[in-house]
Amino acid sequence: MHILKRPRRLRLNEQMRSMVRETVVTPKDLIYPLFVVEGKGIRNEVASMPGVYQLSIDNLLKEIEDVAKSGINGVILFGIPDNKDERGTGAYAEDGIIQKALREAKKEFPNILLIADVCLCEYTSHGHCGIVQNGKVLNDESVELIAKTALSYAHSGADIVAPSDMMDGRVYSIRKILDQNNYTDTAIMAYSAKYASSFYGPFRDAANSTPLFGDRKSYQMDYGNVNEALKEIEIDIEEGADIVMVKPALSYLDIINRASSKFHVPIAAYSVSGEYSMIKAASHNGWIDEKSVVIETTTAIKRAGADIIITYYAKDLVKWVTQAGCV
Ligand SMILES: [Zn+2]
Repeated sequence: MHILKRPRRLRLNEQMRSMVRETVVTPKDLIYPLFVVEGKGIRNEVASMPGVYQLSIDNLLKEIEDVAKSGINGVILFGIPDNKDERGTGAYAEDGIIQKALREAKKEFPNILLIADVCLCEYTSHGHCGIVQNGKVLNDESVELIAKTALSYAHSGADIVAPSDMMDGRVYSIRKILDQNNYTDTAIMAYSAKYASSFYGPFRDAANSTPLFGDRKSYQMDYGNVNEALKEIEIDIEEGADIVMVKPALSYLDIINRASSKFHVPIAAYSVSGEYSMIKAASHNGWIDEKSVVIETTTAIKRAGADIIITYYAKDLVKWVTQAGCV
């Protein structure tokens, strides 16, 4: 006997819908990115990212306190030094901005996961992610300094180091130097499939890290490629990455999905500055509803397979999903 199928039964009301909902964003999925600057009492709003600030350490600590209260597990820190040079020495200096921030934050908030982004681009005068010679970004020389930076962050209190440079062999070198120095518990979250994306524009505003010449296409990935992403992720896992990342998120849901089906490590996705700014701008103009769009896009990132989502909307999302009764 033919029975008319009525899938709408399960969509009848919110109680029914929420009972059968397959993917729900929770505070524990989220990581909140923060930008740290030298000085005191500083809270500079980033022009292209309304609601995102460059914070001096005193204000950073207040922000982390808020994050801790909201139920978010961790923050990822980006440093903006006062001085930059050819070799990015501020990245691995004992009194570097991130080193100081980590020491203070670890002391005050031992239970918040402190993730330190590891790269040289915020610290180099040319704004590239490594050492430049004759207009080329050198790989192995850069990796040496990147590993040194990761060790210095671990030493200052980072629970997780997150190399974002896309040099070959950095995960191997970081794992090796951490283990040699007894930081066997410091995890590595590798920016494994990081695409050369035009969605990074506002971040470079926030971190003062726009390259002075050329672009990053000789180390970040070509957005036409999937196999290359899977290869990069595989290599990073072999080299010792505990968590692998796909960046950006929204235009790369297929990559997140492929990665989560193929590999058995947690997958992080970074919903980047351009994704944030687009939603901010459109909602500011009244063209879309910010809250619903953010919940929808973040749910899509999780549905695609992300276990961890780094987003500038983390704090708002916690409020919104809690209000909506989704957690
Ligand atoms: Zn970089």
